[in-house]
Amino acid sequence: MAMLEDSYRHKGLRKKLVDELKRMGINDQRVLDAINSVPRHYFLSSAFLEFAYDNKAFQIGVGQTISHPFTVAMQSSLLQLEPGMKVLEIGTGSGFQCAVLCELGAKVFSIERQRVLYVNAKNLLEKMGYKPYLSYGDGFKGLPAMGPFDRIIFTCAVPKLPEELLLQLKPGGLLVMPFGDGDVQKMMVVKEEEDGSFATSYHGEFSFVPMLEKRTSAG
Ligand code: SAH
Repeated sequence: MAMLEDSYRHKGLRKKLVDELKRMGINDQRVLDAINSVPRHYFLSSAFLEFAYDNKAFQIGVGQTISHPFTVAMQSSLLQLEPGMKVLEIGTGSGFQCAVLCELGAKVFSIERQRVLYVNAKNLLEKMGYKPYLSYGDGFKGLPAMGPFDRIIFTCAVPKLPEELLLQLKPGGLLVMPFGDGDVQKMMVVKEEEDGSFATSYHGEFSFVPMLEKRTSAG
């Protein structure tokens, strides 16, 4: 794990990254502030420290990546979060997106299927003072005992409609997911209307690692 030191240099680089996200069309100020508040370099192994504030995705081990900052900003904006909302994230990974959701004032629940990533994220987020509920398991099942949720976000590509998860969404709730089984997916927002019907909209193309079934302790 990287040393927990947030220098002026890191803060300056982060500010530049936020300016770039703004130029790229992210205009939700609360999301920009949240990204400005989370030291992304804590989430990368020391080999990548120099590049922590480049607008890029990175390997975090066991074949997984920390999402691109633009992707995190985009998904966070699409969630239209209000403080205090219950949010379920599928794919904790490095924990960076989870930290951004915590900064936005959400009550965050997050599931990761790779044991080593779950353990690393838990340690780091605790050290940083965030208090999400983290779970080691299969995201396809969701967390029925903790639901229903105001918002659900997938940070891995979803190959088929996650029926189980739609059942855990509150009426009026939103689910944000990269949908598709190819290399490129469409960012899809599903809204559960108050009458229980679902409305979908699409927000550009992204490239995520695929969602995989069952949990694993490999890596
Ligand atoms: N939100 C992360 C992005 C991680 S990449 C971040 O900010 O760093 C996607 C993650 O989804 C990977 O860690 C992968 O292990 C996880 N994943 C894939 N299939 C899953 C499943 N069925 N349940 C839970 N997590 C899953």
